[in-house]
Amino acid sequence: MSQVGVLEAGSRHDLHVGISPDAPDESALQEADGAFGYCHSYETSSRYDGPGLRVVLFVSGCLLRCTYCHNPDTWHLKDGTYVSAQTVLDRLGSFAPALRALGGGLTISGGEPLVQAAFTRRILAGAKDMRLHTAIETSGFLGDRADDRYLSVLDLVLLDIKSSNPDTYRKVTGRDLAPTLKFAERLAAIGKPVWVRFTLVPGWTDDPDNVEGIARFVAPMKNVQWVEVQPFHQMGEFKWKAMNLEYKCANTPASTPDLTERVIGQFRAAGCNAR
Ligand code: SF4
Repeated sequence: MSQVGVLEAGSRHDLHVGISPDAPDESALQEADGAFGYCHSYETSSRYDGPGLRVVLFVSGCLLRCTYCHNPDTWHLKDGTYVSAQTVLDRLGSFAPALRALGGGLTISGGEPLVQAAFTRRILAGAKDMRLHTAIETSGFLGDRADDRYLSVLDLVLLDIKSSNPDTYRKVTGRDLAPTLKFAERLAAIGKPVWVRFTLVPGWTDDPDNVEGIARFVAPMKNVQWVEVQPFHQMGEFKWKAMNLEYKCANTPASTPDLTERVIGQFRAAGCNAR
């Protein structure tokens, strides 16, 4: 049993490791009622992770191992702080009037929010009780865990589609692409608002055919409000080094403005609202 800790406001770029050494492995977690869970940190004033001003909660646990991940210290539950959902909601409550006034809300990112689906659902439901807009950022790999009850307290899904090619997806993430596409199709079928996010990593995901495949898949989906192209950067490199992990993107350059414009142009040409 992990010790309950104190979750401090911070930044996604802060390094957190080894805080809850007794935590279960993220692939073997058996959640009970979601009253407690593991978190990396939270930010209080993001304008990029959903509409309006956002509180962004970064939860621990992810089953993917993206080569370019900016936050490998969110992969394992043992690196997170064990906190109660009520503590998170109490903290969120103090920001709720400002978030409502500025048309914002809560976004749960990670890590992967669906690793701790009971915990994150409980927090999302509490945010809805505060009349806040709610969002999660997810790879969609565990989309089956977002059942109808989960989706009922979710206003927006920020869905990371990292590739349209199963081989590239496996090379970049270590996992199968199919569950993400299945989740995207389910969200489209029920009309749940989605912003698709695509991380543009030169040499890994920038192939025109790869981009074209995502664009063609997404363009007919009326529920997809935006496709956001997110240029790769090296801000996470220090975490890989500090954690003694092999960082395969050490020599990967940042995306140039020309490359970013080309990719945004590909999405727009396919009929997507892209930025
Ligand atoms: S899905 Fe996100 S948190 Fe998980 S490894 Fe990939 S980039 Fe990192």
